[in-house]
Amino acid sequence: MDGTGAAAETHAFQAEVAELLNLMVHSVYSETDIFLRELISNASDACDKLRYEAIAKPELMAGDEKLLIRIRPDKDKRTLTIADNGIGMDRQELIDNLGTVARSGTKAFLKGLAEAKEGAGASLIGQFGVGFYSAFMVADRIEVVSRRAGSDQCSVWLSTGGAGFEIAAATEEQAKRVPRGTEIVLHLKEDSKRYAEPFEIERLVRTYSDHILFAIELEDDKGSARQINAASAIWQRPKSELKADDYTQAYRSITMAFDEPALTLHYKVEGRQAYAVLLFVPSAAPFDLGDPNRKGRIKLYVRRVFITGDAELLPPWLRFVRGVVDSEDLPLNISREMLQNNPQVAQIRNGLTSRVLSELESTATKDAPAYEKIWSAFGPVLKEGLYEDREKGAQLLGLARFHTTMGEGLRSLKEYVADLRPEQGEIYYLTGESVERLRSNPKLEAARARGIEMLLLGDPVDAFWTMMAHEFEGKKLKSLSQGDVDFGSVPLINQAEDQKTAPQDEAGILKAVKDALGDKVSDVRASQRLTESAACLVAGAAGRDRELERLLARQNRGASGAKPILELNLRHSLVQAVSQASAAERSEEVSDIAALLLDQAYILDGEVPEDPAAFARRLNLFVVRGLGAAPGIVQDSGTSPNT
Ligand code: ADP
Repeated sequence: MDGTGAAAETHAFQAEVAELLNLMVHSVYSETDIFLRELISNASDACDKLRYEAIAKPELMAGDEKLLIRIRPDKDKRTLTIADNGIGMDRQELIDNLGTVARSGTKAFLKGLAEAKEGAGASLIGQFGVGFYSAFMVADRIEVVSRRAGSDQCSVWLSTGGAGFEIAAATEEQAKRVPRGTEIVLHLKEDSKRYAEPFEIERLVRTYSDHILFAIELEDDKGSARQINAASAIWQRPKSELKADDYTQAYRSITMAFDEPALTLHYKVEGRQAYAVLLFVPSAAPFDLGDPNRKGRIKLYVRRVFITGDAELLPPWLRFVRGVVDSEDLPLNISREMLQNNPQVAQIRNGLTSRVLSELESTATKDAPAYEKIWSAFGPVLKEGLYEDREKGAQLLGLARFHTTMGEGLRSLKEYVADLRPEQGEIYYLTGESVERLRSNPKLEAARARGIEMLLLGDPVDAFWTMMAHEFEGKKLKSLSQGDVDFGSVPLINQAEDQKTAPQDEAGILKAVKDALGDKVSDVRASQRLTESAACLVAGAAGRDRELERLLARQNRGASGAKPILELNLRHSLVQAVSQASAAERSEEVSDIAALLLDQAYILDGEVPEDPAAFARRLNLFVVRGLGAAPGIVQDSGTSPNT
C-alpha cells in the first residue's frame, strides 16, 4: 500500500470462498440489499465482542466508550464505507476470517448450492445471507482496514473478488482513521451506485437493522453524523407499544430471515430470576435445520450485553426457535463454558421449553391451519423430542400431527382415539419412506377391511422415536410391520369378506415355502394383515422394526442383519398354488413361487429383490404360462428360440 513502504502480500482464497465469490460476482440475485444488513450485523457482533472482552479488560475501551457503527456514502467517489469501533481484526485474523469459510451458515449454503438445481444459487443467497462475501454483489473492489482493540498494528485486506486477496500494513492515513475496529470500503459497481445515496442507506437500515443495539450513524459529506436506527432492545419494550409489523422487522433483523414469523412469544419473567424473552417460530425451515450439530440459535444477553449465540437455552428438538433472552441476574462475566452447567441457565431453559410448548398447544387449538403449517415445517424436529425427552414425550405426542389412512389431512392422536373402532385397543402405525408409498402398502389391508385408522409415518425420524414404547390416553402405539397383530375382535366393515374361501392346507404351504427359502427368512407364517396381496415382510416381536433396520443398513450404522419374517395370505391363489405344486412334487415350481413371493414382498417395501434378473425370469415364466404359451418360449433370460 502507498506510503508505508511495506509491500502487499498476496494470498489465495480457500476454494470454497473462491466458489462463493464467483457466484457473488456473477450473481443475478436481485435482492442485493442484504449485503448491508450482513455487514452491519458483523459490525454489531464486533461491538458485542469488544464489550464482552472489556468486562475483564476495561482498558480495551478506554477513551472511546461509545460503541457504534458509522456509514458513509460518497456519491462522487461511488463508495460506501461501513466502520465500527468494535473488536477489530489483526493481520492474521484478516487472513483467516476473510479468506476462508468458517461459519456454519455459509457452509450450509455451499452444501445447499451443491444440491440445488442449476441456477437456484441466486435465490439461495437471499435465504442464507452469506455474510461478508455478499458485499461482492454490489462492489468490485473492497478494502478492509482493521485494528484489533489494544493493538498498535493496523492492517489492510484488499480484494477485487478474484482468486485471492492482498494483505498490507495500513497507510498512515488509514491507521489514523481506524484507531480501533474495522472500516470496510466498498467500491460500488456501476449498477449498484444507488447504495451511495444517503436516503437509500437510511431506508435499508430502518428496514433491516433497526433493532441492532448499537447506534448506526449516517455521516454526510461534511463529516457530521446522525443516528438512523432505533437501537433499542425491542424485547424490553412493553407489548402494548408494539405492532405486528414491529415484530416482523425485529424478527428479520435478529434472525436475518426474510419470512414472517409463524409465532411470536414476547414476555417477561419476574421473581426468583428475571429475564425478558422474545422468541420466534419461523414460517419456513432454515437451511441448517438438518445440521448434525443440532445447535440452537437463541441469543443470550445479560442486562443488554450480548453474551453468546450458543448457550443451550432450548433442547435440540426446539432448535428451530429463534430469538433473544435477556437475563437480569446472570453474572456479566460468565464464561461461555460456565453457561453449560449453570443452574440458572437450566432454569431458564425449562421455563422457555414449557412456554414454547404451551404456545404451540394453544395455537393448535385456536388456529389449526396455522399450527399445521408449523408442524409441516418443524414436525420432524419436534419428533426428535419423542425419543430424547421422556418428560416432555407425552406432551409432544399430543402436539404431533399425522397423515393417516383416514383422508388426506393431518390428524392428532386425540382425534384418532376419539374415532377408535369398537374393540380396538391399540393405535396402529406403519413407517416407511413416504406417506404416499405407505398408502398402498399391503400391510394395511386387514386393518383397512375393519375400518381401523392407521398412522402413516414417512419421516426418517419416525423409525427412531417409535422404538420407544409410547402410549396415548392409555392406548399403546403398535407397528404394523413388527410382531403379531390381531384384529380379530374388531368387526369387519363388510361382513361378506369373512365368507371368502377358507384357506386350504395351511401347514403344508407354510412348510413348503419355508423349506424352499431356507435361511433367507427367519420364519414363514400365516398373515393377519393381508386380505388382497399375497405376501409381506415383518420383523419379529423382539428386536427392531423393519424400517429402522433398513435405515441403519442403508447408512451402515450397525444394522443387526436380522432376517425378516415372511407372512403369507393363505387365501391368495398364488399361495394356494404352492399346495398343488408340492402335492404334485413339482419342487422347482414350489421354489419359484416361494422366491416370487419373497421378492414381491421386498418390492412392496420399496426394496429391490436380491437377484432382480432371477425375479424377472420367474415372473415371465409364470406370466407366459398363464397366457397359455408353449413352455419352451421362456426358457431363460427371455431369449427367443427363433433368433
Ligand atoms: P460470520 O459473520 O457469519 O461469521 P462472515 O463471512 O460475515 O461470517 O465474517 C467472517 C468473520 O470475519 C466473522 O466471523 C468475524 O470474525 C470477522 N469479521 C467480519 N466483519 C468483522 C468486523 N466488522 N469486525 C471484526 N470482525 C469481523
